Amino acid sequence: MKVSRFAPSPTGRLHLGHAYSAVIGHDLAGESGGTFLVRIEDLDQTRSRAEHVDGIFEDLRWLGLDWAEPVLVQSQRSEVYADALDRLRAMGLVYACYCTRADIAAALAAPHGPAASHYPGTCRDLPEDAARRQAQPHSWRLDTAKALALAGMPSWREGGTTITADRADLDDVILARKDAPAAYHLACVIDDSASGVNLVVRGADLRSSTPVQRLLQTLLGLPEPDYLHHPLVRHDDGRRLAKRDLAPTLAAMRAAGVDGRQFAHALKHGELPAGFRLRDA
Ligand code: GLU
Repeated sequence: MKVSRFAPSPTGRLHLGHAYSAVIGHDLAGESGGTFLVRIEDLDQTRSRAEHVDGIFEDLRWLGLDWAEPVLVQSQRSEVYADALDRLRAMGLVYACYCTRADIAAALAAPHGPAASHYPGTCRDLPEDAARRQAQPHSWRLDTAKALALAGMPSWREGGTTITADRADLDDVILARKDAPAAYHLACVIDDSASGVNLVVRGADLRSSTPVQRLLQTLLGLPEPDYLHHPLVRHDDGRRLAKRDLAPTLAAMRAAGVDGRQFAHALKHGELPAGFRLRDA
């Protein structure tokens, strides 16, 4: 039985691409007699809005999808993430990083798109300095080299095959920052495990997140889920769905009288409205 999840960030209204992801995850769980979960990924408090959380539930109901409770809300789970970070720190796998806020904001933001260039390692070998940590905002990064020495190169199962990561796929990602207890990767693996997710369904734009997440799972002794990185909904000309491209929100479709259940049924069969298509990346 599959336990899948849809894990939107409430930074805007859901659009066609979100609907596709939710429908695929919901159906794979349902077909196996399993469970579909929803998780609210609102760690980026500068961009997350409560009204978008309400909108997510409204949109999913309109699609005819049902989900099991509880809905995990990441902003309410700071202590769980802090514990996990403590464990990694105790293993000597984490270091304080004092690099600019711009770096940190990028790491906390939605994890889509090509992997940013690797962290240059500026703070990796700084001497332990508790006084500086007290005085100066900092984040915590994973020491990838040490983590790999302990856990080995990560691999994951997808569509019946096992894929092994490359060293270049892994970076000293930010795990937490001083004013936010966890960044995306750490929160994601903790929550997937806490909810018993055994099938991670998400877009191909998040495939680059999987190596480091598998590494964190191994380090923290968490179970290994299966993965499905599905094709992405794009405009016919290949553009990503984005607000500036006037991607239709589900709210707008609902307001225009579209039947949500029929729409979800069509999506399940890969039938998209005119002007859109599925692309692998
Ligand atoms: N919160 C992420 C997003 O909205 C999804 C993360 C995931 O599915 O692992 O794109």
